[in-house]
Amino acid sequence: GAFAKPSQQQVDSVCPFCGVGCQLTYHVNDGKIEHVEGIAGPANEGRLCVKGRFGFDYAHSPERLTRPLIRRAGAPKDPHGELRRLTPEQVRERFREATWDEALDAAAEGFRRALASTVARGRRSPVAGFGSAKGTNEEAYLFQKLVRTAFETHNVDHCTRLCHASSVAALMEGLGSAVVTNPLRDVQHADFLLVIGANPAQNHPVGATWIKNAVKKGARLVLADPRRTELARHSWKHLGFQPGTDVALLNAMLHTIVFEGLTDPAYIEAHTLDFAQLKAHLADFSPEAMAPVCGIDVATLREVARAYATAKNAMILWGMGISQHTHGTDNARCLIALALVTGQIGRPGTGLHPLRGQNNVQGASDAGLIPMVLPDYQRVADGPAREKAERLWKLAPGTLGSEPGLTVVEIVDAAHRKEIRAMLIQGENPAMSDPDAAHAREALAGLDHLVVQDIFLTETASLADVVLPATAWPEKTGSVTNTDRCVQLGRKAVPAPGDARADAWITEQLARRLGLDWAYGVAPDGSATDDATQGIGAVFEEMRALMPSIAGLSWARLRRQGAVTYPVVDAEDPGQPVVFTDGFPTPTGRASLVGAVLKPPAEEPDVEFPMVLITGRQLEHWHTGSMTRRSSVLDALEPSPVVSLHPETARRLGLWAGAQAQVRSRRGEVALPVRIDEGMPRETAFIPFAYAEAAANLLTNPALDPVGKIAELKYCAVDVRPVTGS
Ligand code: SF4
Repeated sequence: GAFAKPSQQQVDSVCPFCGVGCQLTYHVNDGKIEHVEGIAGPANEGRLCVKGRFGFDYAHSPERLTRPLIRRAGAPKDPHGELRRLTPEQVRERFREATWDEALDAAAEGFRRALASTVARGRRSPVAGFGSAKGTNEEAYLFQKLVRTAFETHNVDHCTRLCHASSVAALMEGLGSAVVTNPLRDVQHADFLLVIGANPAQNHPVGATWIKNAVKKGARLVLADPRRTELARHSWKHLGFQPGTDVALLNAMLHTIVFEGLTDPAYIEAHTLDFAQLKAHLADFSPEAMAPVCGIDVATLREVARAYATAKNAMILWGMGISQHTHGTDNARCLIALALVTGQIGRPGTGLHPLRGQNNVQGASDAGLIPMVLPDYQRVADGPAREKAERLWKLAPGTLGSEPGLTVVEIVDAAHRKEIRAMLIQGENPAMSDPDAAHAREALAGLDHLVVQDIFLTETASLADVVLPATAWPEKTGSVTNTDRCVQLGRKAVPAPGDARADAWITEQLARRLGLDWAYGVAPDGSATDDATQGIGAVFEEMRALMPSIAGLSWARLRRQGAVTYPVVDAEDPGQPVVFTDGFPTPTGRASLVGAVLKPPAEEPDVEFPMVLITGRQLEHWHTGSMTRRSSVLDALEPSPVVSLHPETARRLGLWAGAQAQVRSRRGEVALPVRIDEGMPRETAFIPFAYAEAAANLLTNPALDPVGKIAELKYCAVDVRPVTGS
């Protein structure tokens, strides 16, 4: 603006928060970001939300980690104490500052000890790693390679397990690939949109602006969500169904389409398998039978189903409300079947879009931060895929095992049982993000050896034996992949504080100390050059050699173009925003129709815990809050935790706006002020999980979806009452 000091430097990069992947410019003076502007990236065309525009000064927070830390002998690890923001004295009591050589030696030594102590080597490894969906593709790739080769285990996972693991399981089973079929901006070509179990106005805000634009142009929007969230104002219909009854709602829609003859028989015949079984399965799911279960009347169920099936182009977008259930895979199976039986897939403005949460959860998954697959979703059980990786990684044949590793919640459980003894965690915060957080914190505190790389002393890092200070997003160069499968280049804009070093450098140094002959020569300061034989460029080229999806995207091309959508098969391929235009990447080329059964949530309300708890995010805060709660504008907008209640429920409980409520589940309790929200369903509470002082995940249920191994973060039974004396 007219009053802004001209910036010395302007560096184009990508927003570090959500999966929309907005491009932005950092305006830098004297090594500090002063403001941020949106630029014309393919996902945002100059738009930014409040997080992208104002959430940048966390990088300059005085709380940044600037020196490696080693835990003092005998210093306590208190899993149930106040973990957040230890005072400087408490930090000094627990940790001493160390040189990088000392800290890396200590980190490597602990892993060597854990590996050597395993009597039953070759069966279950005692070591596991959590990588990060907040880092770059290159960092994710190096991390999984380190775990798989130095620790010789597939015990490597990341927050995708808490995010879209069930969607991925259903998409892999049905379509042979878990990618989004169409980019988010394709909503402009749709005349019908089903948004289910997602709150894009808060979690994918720029994406929500494209949805609102599509509605203005005439698209019919159906918002299916127990909560009446902001997008409801723009919708043709809001389906406020009972929490946890997604399968009833969606099977009733499928029943209507199949038994009213609204399917696309030519598409079903040409591109799918098992329609007859699906039809037989759906017989029991008439709208008349399902209306009392899901709470949506028969006429509305039929009207919405007909509108979806008969639209020229209809698109489905979904989020954690679908995936974070013990029946998450079944929920996603229904959405896949809807698109397939109506042929609403394979054209612009149609298809299936599981909205990816983190800025790089798509890329981190592609790069192999998943225990059952190598990079590009090549199954660890697949012999030729393992051999290809072993050749490229110069490993002895047979080094990579054929048994999948453990997933996030399984690793935490194994740590509790003392089967996992040592962990490497890069930029994740399971002490806040895992379900039943008290159990997760006990498991982390009980490890023999915990090494955490992060930019702050997070709740997880507070329990570490070695803490390695990493670079923040604006301090490094590397690629990220957004929800649209668009690979974009983030560029280093400012120097890191103190002795903080790039995660990719840390991983390479650890690998060398663990006996691997890595020689990428990653720069410690997070920088990268055009050179594709050195540093981050060399890592990217190695990924490309292993990953057919990006085979046509060289480091040079990425540096030049800055954003390319995969699949990109060769140098001439411009990238393919819409996929499955003619069949599917399955052995038969056809998609499978899989019927979903109706199962109740793992824990239902009862006399002692009569209400339902839903957890989620807020517009201003990102996940566990480690970055946004240290961003001054965002913190000022939403400074403290709240529990949202419907006004009538609050009244029944003797609560009002601002009153202090106690929320208790079988696993824990928190106390926090009430926010009145008329969009809440009755007898239901909503708590965002960003606040350590009232951590929502102390309450949540770790019960898993049997296929996707995702926890039921969207449903557990709680009791809410006034805090005595408030
Ligand atoms: Fe960043 Fe997402 Fe907001 Fe875009 S919509 S500015 S990517 S948080």
